[in-house]
Amino acid sequence: MRLSQGFFPTVKEVPADAVIPSHQLMIRAGLMRQLAAGIFSFLPFGYNVMKKVMQIIREEMDAIGGQEFHLPALNPIELWEETDRVKAFGDIMFHVKNRPMVLAPTHEEVITAIAKNHIKSYNQMPQIWYQIQTKFRNEPRPKSGVLRGRQFTMKDSYSMDSSWEGLDKSYDLHAEAYKKIYTRCGLSFYIVGASSGAMGGSGSQEFMVESNAGEDNLAVCEESGYAANVEIATSLVPSAERYSLSEPLKEVHTPNCKSIDEVAAFLKLPTNRCAKSLIFMNGEQPVLVLMLGNNQLNESKLQKVFGADIRPAHPEELIELTGADAGSIGPVGLNNKFHIVADNRLKDANGLVCGANKNDFHLLNLDMQRDVKIEAFYDFRTVEEGETSPDGKGKLRIVKGIEVGHIFKLGTKYSDSMKAMFLDEKGEEHPIIMGSYGIGVERIIACHIEQHHDENGIKWQKALAPYDVHLISVNMNSPEVVAKADELYKLLPQQGISVLYDDRSGVTAGFKFKDADLLGMPLQIIVGEKNLKNNLIELKDRNSGDRKTVPVENAVEEIVAFVKN
Ligand code: ATP
Ligand code: MG
Repeated sequence: MRLSQGFFPTVKEVPADAVIPSHQLMIRAGLMRQLAAGIFSFLPFGYNVMKKVMQIIREEMDAIGGQEFHLPALNPIELWEETDRVKAFGDIMFHVKNRPMVLAPTHEEVITAIAKNHIKSYNQMPQIWYQIQTKFRNEPRPKSGVLRGRQFTMKDSYSMDSSWEGLDKSYDLHAEAYKKIYTRCGLSFYIVGASSGAMGGSGSQEFMVESNAGEDNLAVCEESGYAANVEIATSLVPSAERYSLSEPLKEVHTPNCKSIDEVAAFLKLPTNRCAKSLIFMNGEQPVLVLMLGNNQLNESKLQKVFGADIRPAHPEELIELTGADAGSIGPVGLNNKFHIVADNRLKDANGLVCGANKNDFHLLNLDMQRDVKIEAFYDFRTVEEGETSPDGKGKLRIVKGIEVGHIFKLGTKYSDSMKAMFLDEKGEEHPIIMGSYGIGVERIIACHIEQHHDENGIKWQKALAPYDVHLISVNMNSPEVVAKADELYKLLPQQGISVLYDDRSGVTAGFKFKDADLLGMPLQIIVGEKNLKNNLIELKDRNSGDRKTVPVENAVEEIVAFVKN
């Protein structure tokens, strides 16, 4: 493609809301333009990259036996009512005004409807069905460019199996395909265990790219490869001690000591001799959760035990239920309406300090075995930077991550509610066992740029580069330069190399070099007057910044070697 003829609207200025590098560069380099909040037009340069990503995905999905579908985005609302997901998605789902229709945010329902009509027997499975298609989600806060859009492209696939072992196999095939896809797309990524959220189901993992632009917090361990969403991450931290002698409980006056730090400082004790009490309401039921010292309670872990509706008690409820304000509450002598649970680190500990349920008073010598009836111990902690990873092989780092893909074992959630049944070998009827698997196509592009750029622009890795090389004719007034550049523009495609050719007149050399760095093709071929006089052409590796000159007669060979390597 000749730059003089193509549509390459590069710009210097970016909108104020473009704060992360990938968003800025996708605008500056002319990959896309925003139409409305969270809605983007992909321009030829950007769509070129998108097609490469989709091709890689197709190849890897086909390689695991996937069959490509193309499903409608416009869905009858009754279909979504069958699985009760009109309610589950709530305002995230776009509703059509003049028909009882919705714009699909995902496709489990449509797939299950097809499977229900056509898969009747165990011998028709396994099946892996996929599509690459537009999804619509009314995200409340679209941001970071295409990372969180209201319309985006997803590769979604669905597996159908007649056994749980079959599901494991389909799931593992996807995990392997996903690793290949992200690796081929030039991303370094982590695979993290995840809680399955609104999708339901038994097992799920997310593919995460480390980036400051990410919305997820991850605990990762370089040494062992452990990675988990902080929502579920665990670490090896020692439990609180149990002393051989358990002293009797003793009430002490702790004026104005509200936080654990204040109580510990006042009593001249380390914070990890304090048991912090947090009160939640689970419907009408008050729940007291004991945590050690300043350990942060992890809300997701709490919700996993008590359900998503558990909420912190209001200040008035605290006084009414315990007789004290937050900061002086403890597990001893509460009315028997309370459920009392504790973090694992407190198991069997004694010699602890806790609130006395009387403002400005605490109890010394709390013994978890003697003084309180703990219903159960759970891991309620949020892990922290520097703790030992659960496999004991290294230290945890807490990093930000962008989710580029998600794989779920759905089980029979959708086949149950939509009655998608098959007959087994014995002629008995069972719900189809399903999995669902998603990749955000635009997110791959944005993550690629997050991981491969510098202050001057994008550094495409070969697999996603919109063109293999960027050919620059430095001086359009020189007939020799133009002739040589034109010749390369003709010869290179014959070797299977795609060329972006900056043949613009009336543009300075400096301007062309800046654009070449911004657009970011892996190799720049610079045909200039001075070098050409010495029978040389300059090659610049955009990723390393290395430059070299090669004799004109070797140029094609050198370029082919670079591109095909
Ligand atoms: P998130 O937690 O980021 O909202 P999700 O869990 O809702 O993602 P899934 O429903 O699992 O995402 O969708 C599969 C993939 O689609 C995600 O891994 C992500 O790459 C992509 N994706 C999801 N929502 C968006 C969005 N609003 N804009 C762009 N890509 C998205
Ligand atoms: Mg979402």
